[in-house]
Amino acid sequence: MIFMAMSAALVAGLGGCIGPWFGATEVPPYKVEQITQNKNIVPFAIIGSGPAGYMAAVYGSRLGRKTWVVEGSKPGGLLTETSTVENWPGEVAIQGPDIMRKLRAQAEASGARFLQDTVIKLDTSKWPYIIELENAPPLYALSVLIATGATPRRKGVPGENEYWGSGVSSCAVCDAPFYKGDDVVVIGGGDSAVEEATQLAPYARSVTMLVRKDRMRAGQSTQEHLKGYRNISVRYNADVSAVLGDNASVTGVELTDPRTGKKSRLDTSGVFLAIGHDPNTEVFKGAIEMDNDGYIALRGRSQETSAPGVFAAGDVEDRVYRQASVAAGSGVRAALDANRFLTEIGLDSCATEKLKPSFFNGITRSLTPKGEVKKVASIAELEELFASTKGLIIADFFADFCGPCKQLMPTFESVAGELGDSALFVKIDVQQAADIADRYMVQRIPLLMAFEGGKVVARYAPVSQNGSLISRAELVQFVQGLLNEQSASEPAQRA
Ligand code: NDP
Repeated sequence: MIFMAMSAALVAGLGGCIGPWFGATEVPPYKVEQITQNKNIVPFAIIGSGPAGYMAAVYGSRLGRKTWVVEGSKPGGLLTETSTVENWPGEVAIQGPDIMRKLRAQAEASGARFLQDTVIKLDTSKWPYIIELENAPPLYALSVLIATGATPRRKGVPGENEYWGSGVSSCAVCDAPFYKGDDVVVIGGGDSAVEEATQLAPYARSVTMLVRKDRMRAGQSTQEHLKGYRNISVRYNADVSAVLGDNASVTGVELTDPRTGKKSRLDTSGVFLAIGHDPNTEVFKGAIEMDNDGYIALRGRSQETSAPGVFAAGDVEDRVYRQASVAAGSGVRAALDANRFLTEIGLDSCATEKLKPSFFNGITRSLTPKGEVKKVASIAELEELFASTKGLIIADFFADFCGPCKQLMPTFESVAGELGDSALFVKIDVQQAADIADRYMVQRIPLLMAFEGGKVVARYAPVSQNGSLISRAELVQFVQGLLNEQSASEPAQRA
């Protein structure tokens, strides 16, 4: 009770320093005085930018800890691929991307800072812990929070990878509008599968849920919800054993009845996967303990992992609840745990600056200032730009309903900030500027297109076949490659 009151006071920004954590059972083996170098030291490094990561950033910052969030290749995480959320605290209904935008803004207002980079290794054999980044020098973290979430599972059947992005998807909210009037299927019988089906229903002619057993795993009330949709049906004992197509796009699925082994074919132009998730812990293997499925193991009732001062929160450690609000709450717990840890190693939140001021001012790479990315709303505007621009124009085609587009935008803006002197970066909303999308046959978004002298010189699909988004380094490479080729007359076809 005493601790709760004290934490509340600190979090409310009322000031005051905290002493040792009364509940601590072990004294951490580290002391701030051990630190011998003073570059890129981060008191609290958060890896991951979902609800757990951003809420931890809010608390970490408000507790007076300099907090950095390494946002990864999908800032905002899976919620940016969700549509309406009706179970987020305090909101009757809110869009998933809006939750993440608000959380990020709250973390920023609290003082957190962000790195648009991806962690490739966490070394816990030395302290400060070394966080290796894809595009920048390593960070040396006094405490770490892993909040990298989980990734939608693949089915692993023939045709799935081949038609990924050309009929196979794991994001109905992103792709549903492309299946207007079509017959589509959803693989899976859990809550996610029901959600996917209901997102597709307003667009598709029919949605067939393919459930491999004779029952669904989704909650009863969720299943009841399905009754409100006349074009959604459920087919049981239907395991997809292959995705079929005509080399260009999906035309059907092969189904196997697990009871008899009998095969059949179902015509469809869209296959949506919703068969669960795997924790994103590959890069942390060997650094901390995990269970056999890769979920991070926690110690006791805290968010602490097997390494002192390394914490985990959200879907990366939670296979049971898997709710955004639970993830956010566990991020809060982790930040409070990290705060205690930092106090115990001698980093009094009030004395941080006095202790070793230079330690915490040395991040060598901060977020590239965001470029001004102009929005082009019509063919007429684009043609004006063609007339007034000598060099390259790089366009990002997006739409508000598209989660991956929202994930790409900060990276695009950041690269625009870096290379804006060499090329003009613009964004084009395919719903607002349908004339541009029609003329350039934009059938899938996000899509990057480069123009020079009014002609298309490159198209680039920034979401790969396995669903991962182009990294910042790859985007820089793409643009720099074009800048190098600028004088070449042959157009390059990249998508
Ligand atoms: P679940 O694990 O709950 O369901 C996975 C579904 O996919 C099951 O029907 C499972 O079938 C099926 N499946 C798994 N592997 C395969 C495979 N290889 N081939 C065919 N089918 C397969 O995952 P969800 O992602 O749906 O949900 C995860 C958690 O998130 C749950 O706790 C859920 O309640 C929660 N959630 C809550 C939401 C909300 O409240 N708004 C929305 C979405 C999720 P089988 O039963 O045969 O194993």
